[in-house]
Amino acid sequence: MSLSEDQILNIDNRHIWHPYSSVNTAMQPYVVDSCNGVNINLKNGRSLIDGMASWWSMIHGYNHPELNLALTTQLSDMAHVMFGGLTHEPAAQLAKTLVEITPQGLEHVFFSDSGSVAVEVAMKMAVQFWHARKQPQKNRFISLRSGYHGDTFGAMSVCDPVTGMHQLFSEVLTQQHFTEAPQCGFNEPWNEGYLSDITQKIEQYHSTLAAVILEPIVQGAGGMRFYSPHYLRGVKVLCEKYNLLLIADEIATGFGRTGKLFACEHAEITPDILCLGKALTGGYMTLAATLCTQAVAEAICEGDAGCFMHGPTFMANPLACAVANKSIELLLNSDWPNAIDNIQQQLTDGLAPCASFNTVQDVRCLGGIGVVEMKEPVNMAEITPAFVEEGVWVRPFGTRVYIMPPYVINNSDLATLTSAFVKVLKP
Ligand SMILES: *Cc1c(COP(=O)(O)O)cnc(C)c1O
Repeated sequence: MSLSEDQILNIDNRHIWHPYSSVNTAMQPYVVDSCNGVNINLKNGRSLIDGMASWWSMIHGYNHPELNLALTTQLSDMAHVMFGGLTHEPAAQLAKTLVEITPQGLEHVFFSDSGSVAVEVAMKMAVQFWHARKQPQKNRFISLRSGYHGDTFGAMSVCDPVTGMHQLFSEVLTQQHFTEAPQCGFNEPWNEGYLSDITQKIEQYHSTLAAVILEPIVQGAGGMRFYSPHYLRGVKVLCEKYNLLLIADEIATGFGRTGKLFACEHAEITPDILCLGKALTGGYMTLAATLCTQAVAEAICEGDAGCFMHGPTFMANPLACAVANKSIELLLNSDWPNAIDNIQQQLTDGLAPCASFNTVQDVRCLGGIGVVEMKEPVNMAEITPAFVEEGVWVRPFGTRVYIMPPYVINNSDLATLTSAFVKVLKP
C-alpha cells in the first residue's frame, strides 16, 4: 500500500504543518523518495545536491553504510529503555567522548531530544545554580541580537526580539536583556570598543543576571553572521568579572563546521554550560546534550531541590547515542580540518562573483559555511524552483542565501552548488 506523489502532496496539503509555514498559503513541498551521499532524490525522478546538510546536521552524507550499521546493530539490542535508574553502554560511551573532545572542564552531560530542549536545560541549570548559591534574584539572561536558540518558550525569550517575533508573544515571554550583535567580523581588526555595549549592559544588570547565552563565533538562523574570537574571549572575561555563567550554544557550530571542532576553540575558552545538537548524530536521529562544569553541577545538587529538575522520557535514547558514537568516530578518524578548509576555499572562490551583483549586500565564508546576503529578502516561491532547476537544494531565509554542505561533498558538486548561486542570484 504505497502512496503516489499526488496522494502524498494531497495529504500534506490538507493536514501537515511544515516549519514556519501557513496551512493556507504554503508552497508545495518537494516529495523526497530517498537520499544517499550528498543527494536528495525526489519522487519525480530528480536528484538534488544538498547544500544545507539538512540544517547543519548531515555531515557525513545520507545513507552512510557505517552509520546505518551502527543503528541496526543497536536496534537488535534495544531501541530504547528509560534512563531513570537505568544506564547503558551507548550513553556511557557518548558521555565519555563528549567530555574528552569538548573544551577542558566540562564534566557532566545531560542528554535530551532536541536543540531547543538542550537550551531550556542550560537555562534551567543556570537558574538552579544561582538559586542554590542563595542568589535567586539572578534569574535573567543577556543574549545577543541576531541570535537564535530554538523555538520553545525559554529559548525563544533569548532569540533576537525582531526575527524571533517577541511582539507576538510579549505577554508570555520572560523579559530578557539584549546587547547589540557583535560588530567586529571574524577576521576584522579588533579593539576593545566592540565590547562597550555588552559591558555597559552587564554592569547595569549583573545583579539580576544568571548567565550570558550566545552562539560562539557564528550566529546561525538569526542572521548567519561571523564574529571575532576576541569578542567571545572578552565576554568570557566579563562573565568572570561580574559573576555570570556563560552558556555557549554550539548546536549549529559544533563538530567542525567552523573549522574548529567546537567554535569556542577559536577563542580558547571553556563556557560553564555548552549545548550540542544537530550534527551530534551525523543528522541521523534527534539528540541533544547539555554539558556543564563540575562547579555548576555540584552547586545545583547542593541546592534545596537536591537534584537537577529535568528528565525527558526519551533521554539518552540508545539508538541516537549509538549513531552519535559512530558519527563522532567517523569524524575524528577523517581529515575533517582539511575537508572543511577545502570547502571554505571552494565556497570563497565559487561565490566571489556574487559580490559584484548590485542586489548583493555581502558575501562571506567561514569553515563549511558560505553566505550571500542580499539587500532585499528573496522571493521563496521563485528562488526555490530556480535552485531545483539547477539541481541543488538550498533553503534561504529572508535576505540570507547560504550553503553549509555535508563535509563529504566533492569539488565537482561544490562547483555545481556555487555556480547555481551565481546563476540564480544574478540580477
Ligand atoms: C537549531 C538550533 C537550535 C534549536 O535546535 P532544535 O533541534 O531545532 O530544537 C538552538 N540553537 C541553535 C544555535 C540552533 O542552530
